[in-house]
Amino acid sequence: MSDHAALVDIRDVVKDYEGPQGPIHALKRVNLRVGAGEFVGIRGPSGSGKSTLLNMITGVDRPTAGQVLVNGQDLTELNEDRLARWRGDTVGVVFQFFQLLPTLTVLENVILPMDFARRGRPKERLERAQMLLEQVGLADQAQKFPNALSGGQQQRAAIARALANDPPLLVGDEPTGNLDSKTAHGVVDTFEELVARGKTFLMVTHSNSLAARIPRVIEVLDGELFENGARSGK
Ligand code: ADP
Repeated sequence: MSDHAALVDIRDVVKDYEGPQGPIHALKRVNLRVGAGEFVGIRGPSGSGKSTLLNMITGVDRPTAGQVLVNGQDLTELNEDRLARWRGDTVGVVFQFFQLLPTLTVLENVILPMDFARRGRPKERLERAQMLLEQVGLADQAQKFPNALSGGQQQRAAIARALANDPPLLVGDEPTGNLDSKTAHGVVDTFEELVARGKTFLMVTHSNSLAARIPRVIEVLDGELFENGARSGK
């Protein structure tokens, strides 16, 4: 992969946290490059560093050392305001527990990130939200509140919301962890369709049967990354 094609480029990233017994080395000088249009799975035991890795990539947290480049931007150079704006434009996140706002309709939930980003005019935001809900098979659920939907439908609504600002990168933190196996596979079908349309998708999963569908899987073990059994990027 050439430098040019890397959408995510993590270089010698170290992340230490202060623990009660001294520093916790959550990421131990890791390297990872993900090309535009790749579908990448992230696996590993609890506490191995998966969330920390995702937080580096989404700019939610900053590395202790090293560089994080996403979509050509060095995140370590941005202040909090610019980072928040960058995140809104560049990354869509899908969570295990969906995190839809319960007091807004499904349609309003999808419009919200466009309102925050001041994307287009209100009418355009509405039309885009409707189009996205159609894309994930929820056109007829738009006026309902999230709790009237099944888990799989709520996750599709959350995917539509993640797509609202048309980010190049989608990140899922165990996005199918709260769904039964059949529904989970249906949601992964949607992820595959998005990747086929050019999105880049990084997804944490614990499921063997889902990981088997993902073309590239990174294992996180004790703060280090492994790919095909070898330590990655060293
Ligand atoms: P995973 O997502 O694989 O379960 P995490 O990235 O959440 O793992 O955690 C990696 C390590 O860093 C663990 O030892 C965890 O206890 C520690 N850790 C994570 N976040 C914090 C934090 N905010 N403060 C202190 N330690 C943390």
